[in-house]
Order: sequence, then C-alpha cells, then structure tokens
Amino acid sequence: MAQTLPSMEVGLPGSPPAEKLEALSQVNGLILDVDGVLFEGQRLLPGAIELITFLKQSRTPFVYLSNNTTFPLEHHIGKLSRLGSPASPDSIITAARVTAQVLARESEAETCCLVIGENGLIEALAEEGFEITHSDYERAKYVVIGMDRWLTYEKLRCASLAIRNGAEFISSNPDPTYPDGTQLLPASGAIQAALEATTGVRARVTGKPAVYGFLQALDRLGTLPGETAMLGDQPEIDIQGAVNAGVRAFLVLSSLTPHYQPQSGYSQPEAVFKNTLDFYEHWLQR
Ligand SMILES: [Mg+2]
Repeated sequence: MAQTLPSMEVGLPGSPPAEKLEALSQVNGLILDVDGVLFEGQRLLPGAIELITFLKQSRTPFVYLSNNTTFPLEHHIGKLSRLGSPASPDSIITAARVTAQVLARESEAETCCLVIGENGLIEALAEEGFEITHSDYERAKYVVIGMDRWLTYEKLRCASLAIRNGAEFISSNPDPTYPDGTQLLPASGAIQAALEATTGVRARVTGKPAVYGFLQALDRLGTLPGETAMLGDQPEIDIQGAVNAGVRAFLVLSSLTPHYQPQSGYSQPEAVFKNTLDFYEHWLQR
C-alpha cells in the first residue's frame, strides 16, 4: 500500500505537492498515534487541537491508536479530552487493551500472566480475567511486558525464568524509547531487548506494528483499509504497522523522528509532514 517516495523535502515554503493532497483526498478515516503526534509527555503539540477540532466538525471518523501501556484508560480519556472535547472510551485503542484482548481469545480464564509493566497493562489483563503475578515463574503461561519505570533485576530474573520454563513471551509494545516531553526515556522495547538477550527467545509483539490494533481501529471506524490512514511519528512502528494492515500511512516528524530517512527492510510512508500542524494545513487544502 505504501508507495516509494521521492526524497521528500518537507517544510519548504510554497504550494504543497499535488501528490500529497491527492493522497490525503482519498482518506475517509484516520487512525491517530498519540505520543509524538498530539502530545509529547503532557505537552500538547502544535496543530493537535486544530486537527481534532476540524475532524469533529467535519464528521471525519477517527480513532486514537497508542502503544502506551503505562496508564489506565481513564488517564488517556482525561489527557485526550484536553484536545477540546471529551474523548469516548471507544475512540481510544491502547496496546495494553489490545494485548489483553488478543491473549484472552487464545486462553482460558484465570490464566497466569507474569507481568513487567505498569497499571495500564496490569488493569487491562485483570479486566480480561487473567491472574497477575510478578514472581511466580513456575505457574506463568505468559510473560507480558510493557514500559515499567520501576523495573528491577528481580523482575527481569523472574520473567527470564518463566520464559525458560516455557511461558510465551509477549511484548505489548516494542518502542525502545518514550519521549516524555523533555527527554527520551528507556521504554518497553528496551526491556524486551534485555529479555531476548538473556533467553534467546524473540518476543511476540501485540502492539504496533502488529496488526491487531489496526484491525480494531478499522472495525470502529467502519472504513476500508484503502480509504483509511495512519498518522504516526515512528516509521518502524506506525508506518510499518499500517502497511502490515493494508492501511495508508503518513509520517509526522517529532522529537523521536526529527528527520526521515527511508530504511531498507521497512515500508515507507506515502507522505511526510514536518509536524502535526503541517499535516493539518495540508488536510484543510485536500
Ligand atoms: Mg508516537
């Protein structure tokens, strides 16, 4: 679905390239990444309020699709409501909930999960009926990881032993870094890498770039993949995930991705925008 780009000059003055507007004109539903597109940490990004306000006024279907597993859903609802109007729970798809739902479809009730992660992931798994442990590596059927700002050697030890004991290794989010608004912090992908290094087992990823969240997004939007676009700031997460799901893909630059260089082995976005405000201004002209 994604097309090969000419080396795109972003942010140049003058009329936007016709191809960008042509691509945008074919979009009837949007899947919006949150961190790096609308917020960085608690900081609202330029163009975020304008874009969401316009999408609502123009009745363009959109959903939020975030790899964040740190916070419970209520936190995301509150944060996204800062964009100008209340965000409904149905409009927010998080990797924590996607992960819990995917695993629930595959397992019996009260299956034991050894979790490295914070409240968002723990609550989502508990809501789906999983038993949560942080240490019982002999009983765990899954090791499920997300970002954990209270990571300890003991947590890594127990997760590693559970994986060696046959538990399936699930990464809810392969992002190596999290931009908190001022710094780039170690995130879930860094924990995934540590466990992969020590066990030799590759994690199965359930958050972006896996397709599960995208399929849920399409279901909620009611649009076809070819008329739906992902707007995200990480090529290997958002763009690759969109392409994996057959959805169109647009990249915005951010502190995580200050420049875009096509990488071999990864799909490319249809267009690159210098920030969310730039995307919004193009969207108005499409
Ligand atoms: Mg992002």
